[in-house]
Amino acid sequence: MTHNRYSRQILFDGIGQEGQQKINRKSALIVGMGALGTHFAEGLVRAGIGKLYIVDRDYIEYSNLQRQTLFTEADAKQQMPKVIAAQNALQAIREDVTIVPYIEHVDGAFLNELVPQVDIVLDATDNFETRMMINDVAYACSKPWIYGGVVRSTYVEAAFIPGQTPCFQCLVPQIPAMNLTCDTVGVIQPAVTMATSLQLRDALKILTDTAFTPKLTYGDIWEGTHQAFGFSRMKRPSCPTCGEQPEYPYLHHSPTNFAALCGRDTVQYQHEGLTYEQLIDYLTTRHIAYHTNGYLLQFEYEGYRIVAFQNGRLLIHGMREVQQAKKLIHQLFG
Ligand SMILES: [Zn+2]
Repeated sequence: MTHNRYSRQILFDGIGQEGQQKINRKSALIVGMGALGTHFAEGLVRAGIGKLYIVDRDYIEYSNLQRQTLFTEADAKQQMPKVIAAQNALQAIREDVTIVPYIEHVDGAFLNELVPQVDIVLDATDNFETRMMINDVAYACSKPWIYGGVVRSTYVEAAFIPGQTPCFQCLVPQIPAMNLTCDTVGVIQPAVTMATSLQLRDALKILTDTAFTPKLTYGDIWEGTHQAFGFSRMKRPSCPTCGEQPEYPYLHHSPTNFAALCGRDTVQYQHEGLTYEQLIDYLTTRHIAYHTNGYLLQFEYEGYRIVAFQNGRLLIHGMREVQQAKKLIHQLFG
Protein backbone atom coordinates (compact mmCIF):
# COMPACT_ATOMS: atom_id res chain seq x y z
CA MET A 1 0.00 0.00 0.00
CA THR A 2 2.14 2.84 -1.27
CA HIS A 3 1.48 6.60 -1.40
CA ASN A 4 -1.66 6.32 0.76
CA ARG A 5 -3.58 5.44 -2.36
CA TYR A 6 -6.49 4.03 -0.36
CA SER A 7 -6.60 6.80 2.26
CA ARG A 8 -10.03 8.17 1.27
CA GLN A 9 -11.56 4.73 1.26
CA ILE A 10 -10.03 3.90 4.65
CA LEU A 11 -11.43 7.15 6.08
CA PHE A 12 -14.89 5.99 5.06
CA ASP A 13 -16.18 4.25 8.18
CA GLY A 14 -18.01 1.54 6.25
CA ILE A 15 -14.62 0.18 5.13
CA GLY A 16 -11.80 1.41 7.40
CA GLN A 17 -8.31 -0.07 7.71
CA GLU A 18 -9.56 -3.58 8.37
CA GLY A 19 -11.95 -3.54 5.43
CA GLN A 20 -9.20 -2.25 3.16
CA GLN A 21 -6.91 -5.13 4.14
CA LYS A 22 -9.67 -7.59 3.37
CA ILE A 23 -10.23 -6.10 -0.09
CA ASN A 24 -6.48 -6.28 -0.80
CA ARG A 25 -6.42 -9.99 0.03
CA LYS A 26 -9.45 -10.98 -2.03
CA SER A 27 -10.16 -12.09 -5.56
CA ALA A 28 -13.02 -11.78 -8.02
CA LEU A 29 -14.14 -13.28 -11.30
CA ILE A 30 -15.80 -10.96 -13.81
CA VAL A 31 -17.76 -12.77 -16.50
CA GLY A 32 -17.91 -10.49 -19.54
CA MET A 33 -15.66 -7.51 -20.39
CA GLY A 34 -18.19 -5.25 -22.07
CA ALA A 35 -19.85 -2.16 -20.61
CA LEU A 36 -20.57 -3.60 -17.17
CA GLY A 37 -17.33 -5.59 -16.99
CA THR A 38 -14.99 -2.72 -17.82
CA HIS A 39 -16.66 -0.29 -15.39
CA PHE A 40 -16.72 -2.86 -12.64
CA ALA A 41 -13.14 -4.06 -13.21
CA GLU A 42 -11.84 -0.51 -13.02
CA GLY A 43 -13.78 0.11 -9.82
CA LEU A 44 -12.50 -3.05 -8.14
CA VAL A 45 -8.89 -2.48 -9.19
CA ARG A 46 -8.95 1.11 -7.93
CA ALA A 47 -10.57 -0.10 -4.68
CA GLY A 48 -7.64 -2.46 -4.14
CA ILE A 49 -8.79 -5.97 -5.10
CA GLY A 50 -5.88 -8.44 -4.88
CA LYS A 51 -6.55 -10.64 -7.88
CA LEU A 52 -8.96 -10.38 -10.77
CA TYR A 53 -9.93 -13.10 -13.22
CA ILE A 54 -11.56 -11.73 -16.36
CA VAL A 55 -13.18 -13.65 -19.19
CA ASP A 56 -14.70 -12.59 -22.49
CA ARG A 57 -15.00 -14.27 -25.88
CA ASP A 58 -14.89 -11.16 -28.04
CA TYR A 59 -12.62 -8.51 -29.51
CA ILE A 60 -13.05 -4.73 -29.51
CA GLU A 61 -15.08 -2.96 -32.18
CA TYR A 62 -15.65 0.76 -32.65
CA SER A 63 -19.28 0.44 -31.52
CA ASN A 64 -18.00 -0.63 -28.06
CA LEU A 65 -16.14 2.61 -27.35
CA GLN A 66 -19.23 4.66 -26.42
CA ARG A 67 -19.70 2.77 -23.16
CA GLN A 68 -16.88 0.28 -22.61
CA THR A 69 -14.39 2.31 -20.63
CA LEU A 70 -10.79 0.98 -20.56
CA PHE A 71 -10.79 0.62 -24.38
CA THR A 72 -9.35 3.02 -26.94
CA GLU A 73 -9.50 3.62 -30.69
CA ALA A 74 -6.15 1.86 -31.02
CA ASP A 75 -7.68 -1.28 -29.43
CA ALA A 76 -10.59 -1.17 -31.89
CA LYS A 77 -8.27 -0.60 -34.82
CA GLN A 78 -6.15 -3.59 -33.87
CA GLN A 79 -9.21 -5.70 -32.96
CA MET A 80 -7.67 -6.55 -29.60
CA PRO A 81 -9.36 -9.23 -27.52
CA LYS A 82 -11.33 -7.41 -24.82
CA VAL A 83 -9.64 -9.14 -21.89
CA ILE A 84 -6.13 -8.35 -23.19
CA ALA A 85 -6.86 -4.65 -23.70
CA ALA A 86 -8.59 -4.57 -20.30
CA GLN A 87 -5.61 -6.24 -18.65
CA ASN A 88 -3.22 -3.65 -20.13
CA ALA A 89 -5.43 -0.76 -19.03
CA LEU A 90 -5.94 -2.16 -15.52
CA GLN A 91 -2.23 -2.83 -14.96
CA ALA A 92 -1.53 0.77 -16.01
CA ILE A 93 -3.95 1.94 -13.33
CA ARG A 94 -2.40 -0.32 -10.69
CA GLU A 95 0.83 -2.24 -11.00
CA ASP A 96 0.44 -4.55 -8.01
CA VAL A 97 -2.90 -6.11 -8.99
CA THR A 98 -2.85 -9.59 -10.51
CA ILE A 99 -5.02 -9.87 -13.62
CA VAL A 100 -5.71 -13.27 -15.17
CA PRO A 101 -7.35 -12.96 -18.63
CA TYR A 102 -9.22 -15.69 -20.51
CA ILE A 103 -10.21 -15.26 -24.17
CA GLU A 104 -12.95 -17.84 -23.95
CA HIS A 105 -16.59 -18.65 -24.34
CA VAL A 106 -17.91 -19.25 -20.81
CA ASP A 107 -19.46 -22.64 -20.18
CA GLY A 108 -20.23 -24.82 -17.16
CA ALA A 109 -16.78 -26.43 -17.15
CA PHE A 110 -15.05 -23.05 -17.11
CA LEU A 111 -17.19 -21.77 -14.24
CA ASN A 112 -16.77 -25.01 -12.27
CA GLU A 113 -13.04 -24.55 -12.37
CA LEU A 114 -12.84 -20.79 -11.69
CA VAL A 115 -15.66 -19.99 -9.27
CA PRO A 116 -14.34 -22.10 -6.36
CA GLN A 117 -11.05 -20.12 -6.52
CA VAL A 118 -12.55 -16.65 -6.01
CA ASP A 119 -14.36 -14.72 -3.28
CA ILE A 120 -17.01 -13.18 -5.49
CA VAL A 121 -18.41 -13.51 -9.02
CA LEU A 122 -19.69 -10.64 -11.08
CA ASP A 123 -22.20 -11.08 -13.85
CA ALA A 124 -21.33 -8.71 -16.67
CA THR A 125 -22.82 -10.83 -19.43
CA ASP A 126 -25.51 -9.95 -21.89
CA ASN A 127 -27.24 -13.28 -21.95
CA PHE A 128 -29.63 -15.20 -19.81
CA GLU A 129 -28.11 -18.66 -20.31
CA THR A 130 -24.68 -17.70 -18.90
CA ARG A 131 -26.32 -15.88 -16.02
CA MET A 132 -28.27 -19.01 -15.10
CA MET A 133 -25.03 -21.02 -15.22
CA ILE A 134 -23.32 -18.49 -12.94
CA ASN A 135 -26.27 -18.82 -10.56
CA ASP A 136 -26.03 -22.63 -10.53
CA VAL A 137 -22.26 -22.79 -9.98
CA ALA A 138 -22.31 -20.03 -7.36
CA TYR A 139 -24.96 -21.83 -5.31
CA ALA A 140 -23.34 -25.24 -5.86
CA CYS A 141 -20.04 -24.00 -4.38
CA SER A 142 -21.49 -21.38 -2.06
CA LYS A 143 -19.99 -18.21 -3.52
CA PRO A 144 -21.76 -14.83 -3.65
CA TRP A 145 -22.47 -13.37 -7.08
CA ILE A 146 -23.82 -10.05 -8.25
CA TYR A 147 -26.29 -9.69 -11.06
CA GLY A 148 -26.45 -6.64 -13.28
CA GLY A 149 -28.20 -5.70 -16.48
CA VAL A 150 -28.78 -2.68 -18.68
CA VAL A 151 -31.01 -2.07 -21.69
CA ARG A 152 -31.82 1.34 -23.23
CA SER A 153 -31.81 3.67 -20.20
CA THR A 154 -32.85 1.05 -17.65
CA TYR A 155 -30.75 -0.84 -15.12
CA VAL A 156 -31.24 -3.70 -12.70
CA GLU A 157 -28.99 -5.11 -9.98
CA ALA A 158 -29.06 -7.64 -7.16
CA ALA A 159 -26.56 -9.56 -5.00
CA PHE A 160 -27.19 -13.27 -4.46
CA ILE A 161 -25.60 -14.82 -1.39
CA PRO A 162 -25.93 -18.61 -0.93
CA GLY A 163 -27.16 -19.47 2.54
CA GLN A 164 -28.61 -15.99 2.98
CA THR A 165 -30.72 -15.02 -0.03
CA PRO A 166 -32.90 -16.90 -2.49
CA CYS A 167 -31.20 -17.40 -5.84
CA PHE A 168 -31.68 -15.71 -9.20
CA GLN A 169 -33.89 -18.54 -10.41
CA CYS A 170 -36.32 -17.95 -7.50
CA LEU A 171 -36.64 -14.35 -8.59
CA VAL A 172 -36.85 -14.61 -12.35
CA PRO A 173 -40.57 -13.87 -12.59
CA GLN A 174 -39.98 -10.68 -10.55
CA ILE A 175 -37.15 -9.33 -12.67
CA PRO A 176 -38.18 -6.67 -15.19
CA ALA A 177 -38.63 -8.46 -18.51
CA MET A 178 -36.58 -5.92 -20.45
CA ASN A 179 -33.42 -7.29 -18.94
CA LEU A 180 -34.06 -10.88 -19.87
CA THR A 181 -33.81 -10.25 -23.55
CA CYS A 182 -30.62 -9.63 -25.48
CA ASP A 183 -29.59 -6.13 -26.28
CA THR A 184 -30.92 -5.12 -29.67
CA VAL A 185 -32.34 -1.75 -28.71
CA GLY A 186 -29.33 0.27 -27.66
CA VAL A 187 -28.02 1.46 -24.34
CA ILE A 188 -26.68 4.69 -22.86
CA GLN A 189 -23.68 5.13 -20.61
CA PRO A 190 -25.55 6.55 -17.55
CA ALA A 191 -27.57 3.32 -17.29
CA VAL A 192 -24.32 1.33 -17.24
CA THR A 193 -22.90 3.58 -14.53
CA MET A 194 -26.01 3.08 -12.38
CA ALA A 195 -25.89 -0.71 -12.62
CA THR A 196 -22.16 -0.93 -11.96
CA SER A 197 -22.30 1.55 -9.05
CA LEU A 198 -24.84 -0.70 -7.37
CA GLN A 199 -22.81 -3.81 -8.18
CA LEU A 200 -19.63 -2.25 -6.84
CA ARG A 201 -21.38 -1.13 -3.66
CA ASP A 202 -22.55 -4.68 -2.97
CA ALA A 203 -19.16 -6.12 -3.91
CA LEU A 204 -17.40 -3.84 -1.41
CA LYS A 205 -19.85 -4.91 1.31
CA ILE A 206 -19.33 -8.58 0.56
CA LEU A 207 -15.52 -8.30 0.29
CA THR A 208 -15.34 -6.50 3.64
CA ASP A 209 -17.71 -9.00 5.31
CA THR A 210 -20.23 -6.26 6.01
CA ALA A 211 -23.62 -7.69 6.97
CA PHE A 212 -26.45 -6.39 4.80
CA THR A 213 -29.76 -7.40 3.31
CA PRO A 214 -29.48 -7.49 -0.49
CA LYS A 215 -32.20 -5.83 -2.53
CA LEU A 216 -33.24 -6.03 -6.13
CA THR A 217 -32.79 -2.51 -7.48
CA TYR A 218 -34.03 -1.27 -10.81
CA GLY A 219 -34.80 1.99 -12.50
CA ASP A 220 -34.73 4.17 -15.55
CA ILE A 221 -32.05 6.86 -15.43
CA TRP A 222 -33.60 8.76 -18.37
CA GLU A 223 -37.02 8.93 -16.70
CA GLY A 224 -35.58 9.35 -13.20
CA THR A 225 -37.28 6.35 -11.59
CA HIS A 226 -35.44 4.20 -9.04
CA GLN A 227 -36.85 1.39 -6.93
CA ALA A 228 -35.57 -1.36 -4.66
CA PHE A 229 -37.20 -4.23 -2.84
CA GLY A 230 -35.98 -6.90 -0.46
CA PHE A 231 -36.36 -10.47 -1.68
CA SER A 232 -35.23 -12.57 1.26
CA ARG A 233 -38.70 -14.15 1.58
CA MET A 234 -39.06 -15.08 -2.07
CA LYS A 235 -37.27 -18.41 -1.88
CA ARG A 236 -39.14 -21.21 -3.64
CA PRO A 237 -38.78 -24.52 -1.75
CA SER A 238 -38.96 -26.35 -5.08
CA CYS A 239 -36.25 -24.19 -6.72
CA PRO A 240 -33.91 -26.46 -8.73
CA THR A 241 -30.91 -24.34 -7.72
CA CYS A 242 -31.37 -23.32 -4.08
CA GLY A 243 -34.34 -25.49 -3.04
CA GLU A 244 -34.45 -28.63 -0.92
CA GLN A 245 -33.22 -30.89 -3.70
CA PRO A 246 -30.97 -28.83 -5.93
CA GLU A 247 -30.30 -30.15 -9.42
CA TYR A 248 -28.45 -27.15 -10.92
CA PRO A 249 -30.24 -27.56 -14.26
CA TYR A 250 -28.15 -25.11 -16.28
CA LEU A 251 -24.95 -26.99 -15.54
CA HIS A 252 -26.22 -30.00 -17.41
CA HIS A 253 -26.79 -28.22 -20.69
CA SER A 254 -24.36 -29.83 -23.04
CA PRO A 255 -22.29 -27.32 -24.97
CA THR A 256 -23.03 -27.11 -28.67
CA ASN A 257 -20.50 -26.43 -31.40
CA PHE A 258 -22.67 -23.78 -33.01
CA ALA A 259 -24.35 -20.87 -31.23
CA ALA A 260 -26.15 -17.83 -32.63
CA LEU A 261 -25.00 -14.81 -30.61
CA CYS A 262 -27.99 -12.86 -29.52
CA GLY A 263 -28.30 -9.42 -31.12
CA ARG A 264 -24.84 -9.67 -32.68
CA ASP A 265 -25.64 -10.87 -36.20
CA THR A 266 -22.96 -13.48 -35.58
CA VAL A 267 -22.75 -17.24 -35.23
CA GLN A 268 -20.04 -18.79 -33.07
CA TYR A 269 -18.51 -22.11 -34.04
CA GLN A 270 -16.14 -24.22 -31.95
CA HIS A 271 -13.93 -26.44 -34.09
CA GLU A 272 -12.66 -29.12 -31.71
CA GLY A 273 -8.96 -29.82 -32.06
CA LEU A 274 -8.25 -27.11 -34.64
CA THR A 275 -5.01 -25.34 -33.76
CA TYR A 276 -4.02 -21.87 -34.89
CA GLU A 277 -1.14 -23.30 -36.94
CA GLN A 278 -3.40 -25.79 -38.68
CA LEU A 279 -5.84 -23.06 -39.60
CA ILE A 280 -3.05 -20.87 -41.00
CA ASP A 281 -1.72 -23.82 -43.05
CA TYR A 282 -5.19 -24.55 -44.28
CA LEU A 283 -5.91 -20.96 -45.35
CA THR A 284 -2.51 -20.69 -47.02
CA THR A 285 -3.05 -23.86 -49.08
CA ARG A 286 -6.42 -22.61 -50.19
CA HIS A 287 -5.03 -19.16 -51.01
CA ILE A 288 -7.37 -17.45 -48.58
CA ALA A 289 -5.85 -14.16 -47.41
CA TYR A 290 -5.90 -13.44 -43.68
CA HIS A 291 -4.40 -11.02 -41.21
CA THR A 292 -3.57 -11.53 -37.56
CA ASN A 293 -2.73 -9.44 -34.48
CA GLY A 294 -1.13 -12.28 -32.55
CA TYR A 295 -4.31 -13.15 -30.65
CA LEU A 296 -6.79 -13.77 -33.44
CA LEU A 297 -6.88 -13.93 -37.20
CA GLN A 298 -9.40 -12.63 -39.65
CA PHE A 299 -10.32 -13.72 -43.15
CA GLU A 300 -13.18 -13.54 -45.63
CA TYR A 301 -14.95 -16.51 -47.07
CA GLU A 302 -17.95 -16.46 -49.41
CA GLY A 303 -18.48 -12.81 -48.51
CA TYR A 304 -18.58 -13.45 -44.76
CA ARG A 305 -16.07 -12.00 -42.33
CA ILE A 306 -14.69 -14.72 -40.06
CA VAL A 307 -12.59 -14.18 -36.94
CA ALA A 308 -10.70 -17.17 -35.52
CA PHE A 309 -9.26 -17.43 -32.02
CA GLN A 310 -6.36 -19.64 -30.94
CA ASN A 311 -8.50 -22.36 -29.36
CA GLY A 312 -10.37 -23.22 -32.57
CA ARG A 313 -13.27 -20.88 -31.91
CA LEU A 314 -14.62 -18.96 -34.90
CA LEU A 315 -16.99 -16.01 -35.09
CA ILE A 316 -18.87 -15.81 -38.39
CA HIS A 317 -20.17 -12.27 -38.82
CA GLY A 318 -23.16 -11.16 -40.88
CA MET A 319 -25.13 -14.32 -40.17
CA ARG A 320 -27.92 -15.19 -37.75
CA GLU A 321 -28.91 -18.76 -38.53
CA VAL A 322 -27.02 -21.73 -37.17
CA GLN A 323 -28.09 -23.78 -40.23
CA GLN A 324 -26.53 -21.22 -42.54
CA ALA A 325 -23.30 -21.32 -40.52
CA LYS A 326 -23.20 -25.11 -40.64
CA LYS A 327 -23.39 -24.98 -44.41
CA LEU A 328 -20.60 -22.45 -44.65
CA ILE A 329 -18.33 -24.35 -42.26
CA HIS A 330 -18.96 -27.58 -44.16
CA GLN A 331 -18.02 -25.81 -47.38
CA LEU A 332 -14.89 -24.40 -45.77
CA PHE A 333 -13.54 -27.41 -43.91
CA GLY A 334 -15.43 -30.23 -45.63
ZN1 LIG B 1 -33.59 -20.50 -5.96
